Amino acid sequence: MKIGVLALQGAFIEHRKKLFELGVNSFEIRNKKDLTQNMDGIILPGGESTAIGKLLRELDMLEELKTQIENGLPAFGTCAGLILLAKKVEGAQPLLGIMDISVKRNAYGRQLGSFFTEADFKGLGKVPMTFIRAPYITRAGSSVTVLSEVEGRIAAAEEKNMLVTSYHPELTSSLKIHQYFLEKFCGK
Ligand code: GLN
Repeated sequence: MKIGVLALQGAFIEHRKKLFELGVNSFEIRNKKDLTQNMDGIILPGGESTAIGKLLRELDMLEELKTQIENGLPAFGTCAGLILLAKKVEGAQPLLGIMDISVKRNAYGRQLGSFFTEADFKGLGKVPMTFIRAPYITRAGSSVTVLSEVEGRIAAAEEKNMLVTSYHPELTSSLKIHQYFLEKFCGK
């Protein structure tokens, strides 16, 4: 099993560490050629969605990445990665625009800042969650399953081959969500 981690900007190393802890090989995707490597899934990390989107365009990777995910490549988007996958982004243009969710950026928490909490993830019980200027999901389409709600907002969901979290499971000590992605989506 081999997982690609988009490594243009943001917290990609932390995802690779989690995969390493789970005994899974990973590699960094930095250009269009890297996208042609065989992979069993891809992780779109947190960071700054506008910067990642701009780089995806400049490096001519956006369409190729979109096609691969639309064709079924399992994809796990955290925070900015969630924004990349969303069909609708309030006040901005969608980037990959594949998953049937609408999102609001920089919207979580009373101070719009960072916070840590523990909340339920469907089927996994309580998991630790680190939020950093996080988006939340304002609308989930009928084929989307909601997996976590925090402060009355949707913070994790899945649809077909896509899993998204507003929070950063890679910045906590738990491996549960990465394990969930690998087992349920990538056939580990
Ligand atoms: N605020 C960032 C954005 O809008 C997301 C933050 C994150 O990925 N931690 O892209």
